[in-house]
Amino acid sequence: MTTAKEYIQASFEGVKARNSHEKEFLQAVEELFNTLEPVFEVHPEYITENILARIVEPERVISFRIPWTDKDGNVQVNRGYRVQFNSAVGPYKGGLRFHPTVTQSILKFLGFEQIFKNVLTGLPIGGGKGGSDFDPKGKTDAEIMRFCQSFMTELQKHIGPSLDVPAGDIGVGGREIGYMYGQYKRIRQFDAGVLTGKPLGFGGSLIRPEATGYGLVYFTDNMLQANGKSFNEQTVLISGSGNVAQYAVQKATELGAKVISVSDSNGYIIDETGIDFDLLCDVKNNRRARLTEYAAEKATATYHEGSVWEYDGHVDIALPCATQNEIDGEKAARLVKNGVYCVAEGANMPSNLDAINTYKENDVLYGLAKAANAGGVAVSALEMSQNSQRLSWTAEEVDNRLKDIMANIFNTAKETAEKYDLGKDYLAGANIAAFEQVADAMIAQGLV
Ligand code: NDP
Repeated sequence: MTTAKEYIQASFEGVKARNSHEKEFLQAVEELFNTLEPVFEVHPEYITENILARIVEPERVISFRIPWTDKDGNVQVNRGYRVQFNSAVGPYKGGLRFHPTVTQSILKFLGFEQIFKNVLTGLPIGGGKGGSDFDPKGKTDAEIMRFCQSFMTELQKHIGPSLDVPAGDIGVGGREIGYMYGQYKRIRQFDAGVLTGKPLGFGGSLIRPEATGYGLVYFTDNMLQANGKSFNEQTVLISGSGNVAQYAVQKATELGAKVISVSDSNGYIIDETGIDFDLLCDVKNNRRARLTEYAAEKATATYHEGSVWEYDGHVDIALPCATQNEIDGEKAARLVKNGVYCVAEGANMPSNLDAINTYKENDVLYGLAKAANAGGVAVSALEMSQNSQRLSWTAEEVDNRLKDIMANIFNTAKETAEKYDLGKDYLAGANIAAFEQVADAMIAQGLV
């Protein structure tokens, strides 16, 4: 009889053989598979159902051409994608990323993680992800609008409120969602529920912009409290300076932490007096400027080129909120040397496998992305509910629901880790709980 370990290993070899050039996707699969052995020992039917081979294969990958004209009248062409990964639990749900590094591998890793993240929220949503290798940096508003319209002209054929509901991600905020929604409406019809992350004036939800950053801090606070700690008077390092980072700065500061950094793809700011949330938002959102402008205006801030994870002073808590693989084994070891006892991920897959092993070896409390950053998609699902009921809930109501959802996710990870005798391995706890739910739903629906 095949053992759990043999089955998982053979399955991973199969995934590698079929997707050898998709390194980010393979990394996300390996991270999940590494934690699943105890489940297969308890559920031998998962082996006979060959669930791993099924779960790693997207239901559908759509790839398309996006022609548009730039401000000088030149014709440009980008590539667009939508990965509809798994609808066992509900309609595909997941963001759109516009960034020059976008490839099918990146979107498959994001779509794969999204399946399990979405199920952890307890809301009925499946997993998907999409985007384009378009670079919004330095583009005029009119260029962004023409690109978004062209992107949606194709994407609208494949989405719908009960089928697939995209949202934002890197490079896609309220402005881009607004332009895409406008185009969807011209081609199809008014249907607020087809996209989430909409501006407030036409179907957006209060607290959606804040949701991923706030949710990350709520999750981390639950993890800290369960271990006799809190954010109060802790020194916190945050990477990124976009949507997730900004609201993580605000909420962690509100809970008494001193957040000393933010970063972008060129460099980082250290501000020992604490990052100024209002100035940060003004620089990034209103002026759409670089962080050097923040440093120029804040006397206590210094700007450094390179990665924020090269910072070499005392830190208690790290919240990576920029992008995948920002922390490798060496950077994780530096964090541990500098006092970090807790890492929670606002970004998707910001820690590589070496970094995760370093956290584990040093008993660092680790909040994996799938669990810690699920607040964004959770409030997106609440936006879908409000749209279908034609209602707008108050900020307080949405925030309270978000707090409950993040507390439930942490408790699920904790209780599942305890059930399987895995101590404080919240990574394994969250992975196992989410995997079991998706696997059971797929099996109950027959051979899907
Ligand atoms: P934004 O586009 O608002 O901000 C992204 C930030 O990350 C910017 O500061 C950007 O700097 C930085 N960044 C992007 N690419 C790199 C890179 N290669 N190296 C270093 N820094 C980089 O995106 P979000 O804040 O929405 O997303 C951040 C992360 O959070 C992503 O991993 C995303 O998938 C994840 N996430 C987002 C959710 C959401 O609701 N928005 C939900 C769940 C997860 P620069 O300006 O220089 O590019």
